[in-house]
Amino acid sequence: MAEKMRMLQLSEDQQRPVICEKCGGVLVYKGLGEYRCEECGESEYDDYGKVRSYLEKHKGANVSDISIETGVSRKSIRQMVKENRFEVIENRGGFLKCEMCGVAIKSGHFCPKCEEAFHKNVEAEARNERQRNMAMAGYGKERTGDDGSKRYTRER
Ligand SMILES: [Zn+2]
Ligand SMILES: [Zn+2]
Repeated sequence: MAEKMRMLQLSEDQQRPVICEKCGGVLVYKGLGEYRCEECGESEYDDYGKVRSYLEKHKGANVSDISIETGVSRKSIRQMVKENRFEVIENRGGFLKCEMCGVAIKSGHFCPKCEEAFHKNVEAEARNERQRNMAMAGYGKERTGDDGSKRYTRER
């Protein structure tokens, strides 16, 4: 169940991390494809973040190098390049527009405002889900204790 929660689909076929692999905390979007765990501070990247941070260190790398080094599929990289998702690559194909509010943007799908709102929403849902799960687990334990099932307890 946690595994299903960990990755949510964006509008394209790229995946983004939601739940920290290390501790199960909620990953908060930091911008440019980077996420940080609000519990333990671990950083994770989505496909875009992986490719972007690789490109920062290896300017001019080709698609197959990037794919081998980051583990992101070539198809996904080509898709991102085609959509002008990298500011290092000049936007020759006219103006991009935010898919939410229609404002002109340089790269990506959303303007910074809408992107932040989108991620805030996903994070809030993940937090609620996590709290529900924790509350349920806690409730379960208490009930076992309260209804006198102590004699069935195997561990001390
Ligand atoms: Zn964590
Ligand atoms: Zn917008």
